[in-house]
Amino acid sequence: MPLLRPLARSLAPLPDESLPGFLLRLAFRLDTSPSELSIRTGLTDRPNLAVLPTPLLIGLAQERRHTFARMVKAADTEVGAMLLDTYSSRYPHAQPSPSGRNGLANHQHRWLFMHATRYCPQCLAGEKNPLEREFGGPWKKSWRLPPVFSCLEHRQFLEHSCPACESPVLHTATRSGVRHMPRWREDGLHPAQCREFIGGLCGHRLDRDAPPARKLPAEYQKFQTFLLDLLNPHSTASVQVLGHSTTPAHYFTDLRTACLILRTSWPSSRHLLDNQELETLLDAGPSAEERTLSRSKFARTASDMPHLAAQPNAALLLAADRLLRPNDVDTFAGHLRTLLNGHDLRPSKVSWARAFLDIRPQCSEGFLQAVSSVVHTYARPNLARNLKQPIRTSRFRPEHIPQFLQEDWYQKYFAHMDGISTVHLRRTVALRLCQTASGGSIQKAADRLSMFLSNPAVTARLAESPKRVHRWARKRPDPLEFETAIRDLAAELDSRDDLIDYEQRRKKLKAWCIGPEPWKVIASRIAVPAGGYAPGGGFAIDLSDRKRNIASVILWSLMTQGEHVLAPTPICNQQDPETQRKWRMSVDAVWSRILHRTTRPTDDQLITALEEYAAYLNPIIDRGETPPIDANPWT
Ligand SMILES: [Zn+2]
Ligand SMILES: [Zn+2]
Repeated sequence: MPLLRPLARSLAPLPDESLPGFLLRLAFRLDTSPSELSIRTGLTDRPNLAVLPTPLLIGLAQERRHTFARMVKAADTEVGAMLLDTYSSRYPHAQPSPSGRNGLANHQHRWLFMHATRYCPQCLAGEKNPLEREFGGPWKKSWRLPPVFSCLEHRQFLEHSCPACESPVLHTATRSGVRHMPRWREDGLHPAQCREFIGGLCGHRLDRDAPPARKLPAEYQKFQTFLLDLLNPHSTASVQVLGHSTTPAHYFTDLRTACLILRTSWPSSRHLLDNQELETLLDAGPSAEERTLSRSKFARTASDMPHLAAQPNAALLLAADRLLRPNDVDTFAGHLRTLLNGHDLRPSKVSWARAFLDIRPQCSEGFLQAVSSVVHTYARPNLARNLKQPIRTSRFRPEHIPQFLQEDWYQKYFAHMDGISTVHLRRTVALRLCQTASGGSIQKAADRLSMFLSNPAVTARLAESPKRVHRWARKRPDPLEFETAIRDLAAELDSRDDLIDYEQRRKKLKAWCIGPEPWKVIASRIAVPAGGYAPGGGFAIDLSDRKRNIASVILWSLMTQGEHVLAPTPICNQQDPETQRKWRMSVDAVWSRILHRTTRPTDDQLITALEEYAAYLNPIIDRGETPPIDANPWT
């Protein structure tokens, strides 16, 4: 190391300030670049690598730490306080890597934000004294810890992206070989400026023009206080987990494991979570951002990466904490059994059990007791079989699921549940069954069931159903009742050999309508008394193409068990827009009468004829043939 002289001017480190934050402020004060400064202070000794490698966020060798302290005129302990390993006794993920493997290659370090950070705009603004007003407030090191999701001083959730360019802040490029802090060689940038470079420097002042602060609810404030207390090396040294006293380090390991279980068992874990933003993230699967951060194709790694977004991450941590803090091991074991033995066993979940058995994380006594019983019983009979068949875990397939849960299945498993509209319930169960068979998100299931149409209003209405149903299910006296019913129905479907390929029916009937020949027969079956008026009603019976369109939709629904809004309407489509609108309303009206069992005599006559027709057409389609348009059972 070349002989160095202390800097003429320096800055006093701020409380909880991180090493990169300190370098940013000092470089700005000295009108130099952070990379120059890191050479000048002995942090790096090769000018071509004059960047701050991310491992230095965690720890510094004693000699280098001492040199740096001398250069910046600080005490060794002040420099030590800038590094994440100050948390290592409480937070095992903040230990320097003994193997030298750093960052995401290191299993432990995945629970540190090494490649980006959260921030509090008001803390960054500083403004506590003239020095802070000029050079900015601290980039805090605790913001790099996933359990630190809020600023208690400013009572708000932390931010994680630049409001101007939406990039993660202080985002280190992970694609290049050297992982270093962004724009490290540039001088003249204010410490609180966004350093993202997309075709040009963003430069947004993160301490000004911040988005509206997300206020911290009391429950989260209490939880954050509890977590910060556990992270503080000078504070409470024990915590109760599942009825056993344990160390903060074990608690954080348990918390991480519980988060992983909640994420990999999604959507079975839905009843344990109560944050819309989190559910949306879990439904969407690993985001592009996480994939770049983790550079991993494996679901397990992605599910183990904490979300940078503070609010959903806090909701997940809180849900995990709620699992861990009750006194009895049995309740937790019960949850685990549900989560791990769920019907929709995904490969990631199997990997979790396998990884747990391999790694045996340093968890608390209570956690170990609860998990070992469940994982062992779960692992022995199921693990091998499921590893052989990681994807196909159910006998029934997505094609066996109609778009709208069929009446007999609905009656048997769901009709007794009150407080939710039948339509939402039947739609959602269909989606969930499809999801069970195919894995993946609700969105993927909806695609598979062809439920997304060109009509955005209908699509939005359909997408609303699962959200409503899951909100409703969580608030029921037994929040597991709905999930259990889905599992029971799935188990029944698995045991049956007479499942119908609804997908094939939908495909064959994609552009289908009742032909003129069969329509003549069907129309003749509807009683038209003298004068052309319906029995009991004062309106004229209309057996024109409008009625043929309605009949075609009902027939399609009878055969595919799909909702009328998803039916093809080739006859209607040929009409002018105003007529189309009126015809759609008349289809809605008949559908509503059928659903609410208020059909008129002529409706019943029509439906009886259509049921005969459906019984004739179904076997033809189920054999894989396409019926000619005029084929019918009557002529
Ligand atoms: Zn703050
Ligand atoms: Zn920006």
